Amino acid sequence: MSMITESLVDVLERISQTTQKSGRTPNSVSLITVSKQVSVDRIEEARGAGAVIFGENKIQEAIPKIAQLGWDEISWHFIGHLQKNKVKFLDERFDLIHSVDSFMLAEKIAGHCHSENRVQRILLQVNVSGETTKFGMEPSELEKKMIDFSRLKGVNVAGLMTIPPFYSDPENSRKHFSRLREIRDQCEKQSGLLLPELSMGMSHDFQIAIEEGATLVRVGTAIFGSRQPRPGEN
Ligand SMILES: *Cc1c(COP(=O)(O)O)cnc(C)c1O
Repeated sequence: MSMITESLVDVLERISQTTQKSGRTPNSVSLITVSKQVSVDRIEEARGAGAVIFGENKIQEAIPKIAQLGWDEISWHFIGHLQKNKVKFLDERFDLIHSVDSFMLAEKIAGHCHSENRVQRILLQVNVSGETTKFGMEPSELEKKMIDFSRLKGVNVAGLMTIPPFYSDPENSRKHFSRLREIRDQCEKQSGLLLPELSMGMSHDFQIAIEEGATLVRVGTAIFGSRQPRPGEN
């Protein structure tokens, strides 16, 4: 078995064990295989080993990769910070956009999709830790805007996403994950929307995220190994 295959099998196994131990149904958690900075060959290897959803965080990087790999038995999610002037490049490439971090961005995506007669599934990114360096809406701002999000034609808000600060001890992420779940419950009550998806947990803390209710975990390093850091990237 190749290293990618071995790592993917291991991650899937850990997802399945944690899901079971948490008393959740087996397919209540999906793996997003984060393929940013990973070559098409290696993505293909992961596909061969059973990865079905890939996550990309830069539109310019994603477009040629998706053009090569297509959508046959796989799908693509967008997980990175999205600038409003890039919205037109999303096209119909992504099944889900995890990282909508302002009402203006949601409006922009909604307007674009509505004019093309389609509906884009999105998640709203929340800054649960209050760190000023992180993208995402403040919980209070989100709760205020929830009704407005629910009224947008052209997007379907399916849930929330967060990226907690990095802690060497992943146990420290737990409070942020449980907070996102509480915010979700609050937003559902306020807006009448159903927000079933919670996108939280990465390579070093996805098991804790699953224990706290994650439905989508975004895992890169634990599958493909470490990436070269790029300027401005966390
Ligand atoms: C890179 C990235 C991940 C994956 O992180 P790993 O630590 O490599 O698993 C998850 N989510 C987002 C938004 C990312 O940019």
